[in-house]
Amino acid sequence: MIVVRFAPSPTGYMHIGNLRTALLNYLYALNQKAKGEEIKFVLRMDDTDTVRSKIEYENAVYECLNWMGMKWDRLEHQSKRLDRYHEVLEQLKKQGRVYACYETAEELEYKRNRLLHRKLPPIYDREGMRLTQEQIKAYETEGRRPHYRFVLEHNEMAWDDIVRGHCSYQGQNLSDPIIVREDGTFPYMLPSVIDDIDFGITHIIRGEDHVTNTAVQIQMFKALGAPVPVFGHPPLLTGKEGKLSKRTGSVSFRELRADGIEPMTIACLLAKLGTSVAPVIENSLEKLAPHFDLADFGRAQPHFDTDDLFKLNPRIVHALDLKQVNDRLKAQGKSEITEAFWNAVSPNLAKVDDVELWSDICNNDHVYKLDDADREFVRQTVDLLPQGEFDENSFSTWTSKIKEQTGKKGKDLFHPLRLALTGLEQGPELKMLLPLMGREKVVARLKG
Ligand code: GLU
Repeated sequence: MIVVRFAPSPTGYMHIGNLRTALLNYLYALNQKAKGEEIKFVLRMDDTDTVRSKIEYENAVYECLNWMGMKWDRLEHQSKRLDRYHEVLEQLKKQGRVYACYETAEELEYKRNRLLHRKLPPIYDREGMRLTQEQIKAYETEGRRPHYRFVLEHNEMAWDDIVRGHCSYQGQNLSDPIIVREDGTFPYMLPSVIDDIDFGITHIIRGEDHVTNTAVQIQMFKALGAPVPVFGHPPLLTGKEGKLSKRTGSVSFRELRADGIEPMTIACLLAKLGTSVAPVIENSLEKLAPHFDLADFGRAQPHFDTDDLFKLNPRIVHALDLKQVNDRLKAQGKSEITEAFWNAVSPNLAKVDDVELWSDICNNDHVYKLDDADREFVRQTVDLLPQGEFDENSFSTWTSKIKEQTGKKGKDLFHPLRLALTGLEQGPELKMLLPLMGREKVVARLKG
């Protein structure tokens, strides 16, 4: 059984960076499923920060995952698990893996700066461990409340990262992490490990900004007697200006959706961004997953550019099934389209919403403005239209006749016909549109 998780902190709107983390986990699991594994995708709200966590941010996570087609098998909230965290904290205390500290934030900052000033790594000096009962009492009388740190063993913490290969850290090079704040709240580090153990997470895929956390958390898994999950840390995305800027980084899925970007465009691009492989075009996550391999990801930070989404989008639109499109139109209360219509227009759509434009062009009565010369020319072509119902060959039969009779060819021939029939410079192939429009509309538009 492969169990992955996506653990957003609902303290801001979902953006492309979070979406990518969710997607890489999801595709990893689906890829394993394609190989016959049983899988589960856990969605965990890291909402212990009650001040900054907001329900609208949480709802945006659900909305985004639903839109992307990522279904979770289990939903958990850290805010509802505080009792469990306290229980584990007591266990760690009994094991001697936790100690109380009384420094204020300012005192810690001072110690840190002093070390940095002496060009030493700013590692916490474990003063808390050496406090006598009298000192503790004195602090308590002063009104200080303790915060607690986890004792890191001074040995090697190593793992084979799916993306980074062999990784190794030394405990003595890291500070003992604070696991309970002075106000009794839990920072991210320990609750995450407790949840990963309790929910049976087997694989943790998250940005490389968590690599040092992983080293520390490995010791926590071990201290709690749990198996250590497999880790993968893909490099973070960068934007146009180098680092993923606030603006690029915060590109929200809502904006992209409003611009007509398909969820599968995002999935197909992000599944390969950072590898040396070009995006593959698939119309579902299930079909994309067999092409996904975290081991393909390089160590360099991949460059994310929304323009690439716009470039890829038409190819994804074209790859959609009629059913996918009709399901969406139905959900939006719009009329469904036929297979013939979809086959005719899909090769030319930049976004699915443009279906409505072409539906209107093909099905409603329109007469488009032409200059006099073009109008005179297209009027002459009416009598040359083939008899009977139009099919895919009608256009070539018709235009061959026009060529013969008028001597026009190439753009001089096709451009006025396109303008007269669609009112636009570009669009789907006219040979496909002719049967959709039918004789009556075609004649009316040519006559003007
Ligand atoms: N809430 C954490 C974050 O959004 C989760 C990190 C993790 O995946 O463990 O960075």
